[in-house]
Amino acid sequence: MPATIAIVGRPNVGKSTLFNRLVGKRLALVDDRPGVTRDRREGEARLGDLSFTIVDTAGLEDGAKGSLTERMRQQTETAIAQADAVLFVTDARVGVTPDDERFADLVRRSGKPVILLANKAESREAIAGSYDAFRLGLGDPLPFSAEHGEGLADLHTLLAPIV
Ligand code: GDP
Ligand code: MG
Repeated sequence: MPATIAIVGRPNVGKSTLFNRLVGKRLALVDDRPGVTRDRREGEARLGDLSFTIVDTAGLEDGAKGSLTERMRQQTETAIAQADAVLFVTDARVGVTPDDERFADLVRRSGKPVILLANKAESREAIAGSYDAFRLGLGDPLPFSAEHGEGLADLHTLLAPIV
């Protein structure tokens, strides 16, 4: 059984961009029965010689209000519970927000291994900003760019002992 890794974080940090980069064209069939985990995507990820199952979370539907809706929280908690490890994504250009802290609490409480990605760090200013994520208490942030494919070698190094 391949390891399962959940991508977790507040909306708009780049989780789906990371998912697409790791899965490429190998996207698993999405279950489109009404009401069935429509906002959860799962695929077979490849990174160098590593292969694992990856789960994208929190494709929030329009109309959800508030900082962290109950539905998002539940979806994230379920994904974390079913995962062997978590990729926690933040936006290095924005820095840590209260929503980041709420999602980080869910990960910390799970006790699951976590890799902290400070995404959108392709510019020099954002690399500096990525260190703000230290204060989430999830370990050392890895400056990363899902869109530009930067940080993949370091991600491989961190994932290799897990998957
Ligand atoms: P999600 O809501 O966490 O799934 O975030 P998305 O993957 O949908 O990305 C949100 C926005 O951030 C989109 O406009 C992406 O193109 C953009 N984005 C994602 N990754 C990066 C990155 O590495 N650098 C930059 N500059 N933008 C990114
Ligand atoms: Mg998304």
